[in-house]
Amino acid sequence: MQQNQSGFRWPPARPAGETDAAEPPPAMAMQPATGAPRWGPLGEPLAIPQPLTWAQRWRRCLREVEVYWLAMEGGDFALRATEAGWQPESAASFCPRCGTTSQGHETLDPLLSPDPADTGCTLCREQAIPWARFVRLGAYDGLLRRAILETKFSRWKALGHTLGLELGKRVAGVMAGAGLDPARAIIIPAPMTRWRFLMRGVHHTRAIAGGVSKASGVRVCELLARRHRPSQTWFSRPGRSANVAGAMYSRRGLPAETETVILVDDVKTTGATLSEACRALRKAIKGHSRPVTLIAATVAVSRAFRGPRGTETP
Ligand SMILES: [Zn+2]
Repeated sequence: MQQNQSGFRWPPARPAGETDAAEPPPAMAMQPATGAPRWGPLGEPLAIPQPLTWAQRWRRCLREVEVYWLAMEGGDFALRATEAGWQPESAASFCPRCGTTSQGHETLDPLLSPDPADTGCTLCREQAIPWARFVRLGAYDGLLRRAILETKFSRWKALGHTLGLELGKRVAGVMAGAGLDPARAIIIPAPMTRWRFLMRGVHHTRAIAGGVSKASGVRVCELLARRHRPSQTWFSRPGRSANVAGAMYSRRGLPAETETVILVDDVKTTGATLSEACRALRKAIKGHSRPVTLIAATVAVSRAFRGPRGTETP
């Protein structure tokens, strides 16, 4: 309070009994003094900053590392897709049998065609494909590629889940079109070894499969397991098949009511991983009492195989 010899007084004294917005609320008035002023220069109340707990400081630190150091933009794929103007591709954009990007010709859906052997694009028509139908969200580039890499290598489990939600909508549409019952279907995520899970800190295909499950109403059943092998990214096309051959096995048989199996993976590059998963499931399907429709679903499909890591060409 200032008062000079001419009688000027600041702040002016309030009449007795008068209260206004500047009066400190009882709760604030009871807060312990922290050394910071509780009133602004015009007499307005100031919020007293409360110290963060250690848990809050740790969460803020992690968030800053994610945003500023790892350049993550957000954990919700749908939100990022809206901001980027990304649209899911049309069903005619890819071959429903092998999943490669369409070369401009129409291909019948193998699940709807009276003769599934008469379906497929020019690339797969003469090939034996271990699954009946392929479902994908898009090509492996741009926003989808960034989102998959962030899920896989930045431990962003929530982003994988939202990618799975988008893929699950497609899976649900294909199942409804073919009359497949979600209650008689299971989702199997591509398996990961414990060693790789410890190294990466996230089971990305499990996160994606969780999203597919929520969107399609099909339950997840982790039937497959995997033996540790070197990463597929170090091998050429024939080397990939050899590297993954015999790496997967089925832990048990299919649940009794199963009529549809949906194999979920992040990316199809040469198809070696999905083919090995189908091989590992073959024994379980053979001993099953019902006919089983096998669907392969990946978030993205690589446009072209570019060779092992370190030998990619633009
Ligand atoms: Zn094809």
